[in-house]
Amino acid sequence: MALEHKDHAHKHGPNCGHAAIKHDGHVDYLHDGHLHHVNGDKVEEHVLGVSAANPAQCTPNHNCGEHDQQHKHGPNCGHPAVPHGDHVDYLVGKHLHHPHGEHCDDHGGVETA
Ligand SMILES: [Zn+2]
Ligand SMILES: [Zn+2]
Ligand SMILES: [Zn+2]
Ligand SMILES: [Zn+2]
Ligand SMILES: [Zn+2]
Ligand SMILES: [Zn+2]
Ligand SMILES: [Zn+2]
Repeated sequence: MALEHKDHAHKHGPNCGHAAIKHDGHVDYLHDGHLHHVNGDKVEEHVLGVSAANPAQCTPNHNCGEHDQQHKHGPNCGHPAVPHGDHVDYLVGKHLHHPHGEHCDDHGGVETA
């Protein structure tokens, strides 16, 4: 059962300004740290599952060069936040970064839509 985001005034759609990613065969929008799925006139909260493609693992040597080592992910860091399992990741290019101490964990790729 998907949770509904009540009183969601914004209409997600192509070019609405939010990053869109593919999730289990549909398209969701990244909005204020939520993964929003538009279902008719309802907006549902989705969460990326932890899977082989998106493992919740520590990768201390991950250094993809998409941002410098001093970059601290956070609400206004410029990377959209993505709910993943029981934590929050950031979409960097086409994969998920999880800030972990002095490094970023690589939590796998996502397909942007
Ligand atoms: Zn939107
Ligand atoms: Zn979804
Ligand atoms: Zn929401
Ligand atoms: Zn780590
Ligand atoms: Zn960031
Ligand atoms: Zn993650
Ligand atoms: Zn990072």
